[in-house]
Amino acid sequence: MKTALLTHEDCLNHVTPGGHPERVARVEYVMEALEGLDLNRITAPLAAEDDILRVHPMSYLRDIRETAPEEGLSQIDGDTFMSPGSLSAAFRAAGAGVRAVDLVMAGDAQNAFCAVRPPGHHAETSTAMGFCLFGNAALAAKYALDHHDLDRVAVVDFDVHHGNGTQNLLWDEPRALFITSQQMPLWPGSGRPDETGAHGNVLNLPLAPGSGSAEMRSAWRDQAFPRLRSFRPQLIVISAGFDAHEDDPLANLNWQTEDFAWLTAELCVLADDLCDGRIVSTLEGGYDLNALAAASKAHVQELMKAVK
Ligand code: ZN
Repeated sequence: MKTALLTHEDCLNHVTPGGHPERVARVEYVMEALEGLDLNRITAPLAAEDDILRVHPMSYLRDIRETAPEEGLSQIDGDTFMSPGSLSAAFRAAGAGVRAVDLVMAGDAQNAFCAVRPPGHHAETSTAMGFCLFGNAALAAKYALDHHDLDRVAVVDFDVHHGNGTQNLLWDEPRALFITSQQMPLWPGSGRPDETGAHGNVLNLPLAPGSGSAEMRSAWRDQAFPRLRSFRPQLIVISAGFDAHEDDPLANLNWQTEDFAWLTAELCVLADDLCDGRIVSTLEGGYDLNALAAASKAHVQELMKAVK
């Protein structure tokens, strides 16, 4: 069995204004970095409307469809845009996670990485924000719970920004545990330790600006991993953002490429102990193209090493 890699060229047709950090080249750099790796390469399908509606209301889906321009760009907020190709890209990004869940739950892959954009972890129930349109990770978790009839799914998020959208979408979902580390203070401003979810199902791990390997490793090792072990997930979904890298221009954490490899390897050990190694990972942020390429490759290589 091989690690599955899901993507679609539609993800390159989501265009943002010149100079925007969340740009087409991000997925191009990731895919180039993964070239030559022995992966099971799979075309990401469009998500079904019903899958989107697990986490977003129909009114929001209608709004997003109406906002998609026929030409040029439409602006949702200060940094979130749609181009004519954005709707398909967003449905592919969400659909990749859904398909990855199917593959992993069927035993056709032990783990999977979705190289997709737009990212998802800032999208709230009815609010697109922070470059995100649909909550890809939360949507994959909900799909696993509902469609595959699971009782417990964990979503872990190591993007440098708080996954406010995922937290919002899973806040009242007792079958999901959401664990997230983020720089604080930093946009979007949420992610304090006292934000714990309606069922104590959210764990926020804020990290101080300038902190690096030692601080991130102790936060994950001392707080996140014990919590994951006691929750006993049947599947782990990863919001894989690589913008905590020291070279990233949007934030001020000092993670090294090795830190992303370490965290991925540790999550693979946990997944092996708890849920037959089942992991679905989906790309979130990461805005220094070379750091993104190196760290995402390190992440995928650890997923590959964990496959039995
Ligand atoms: Zn981010």
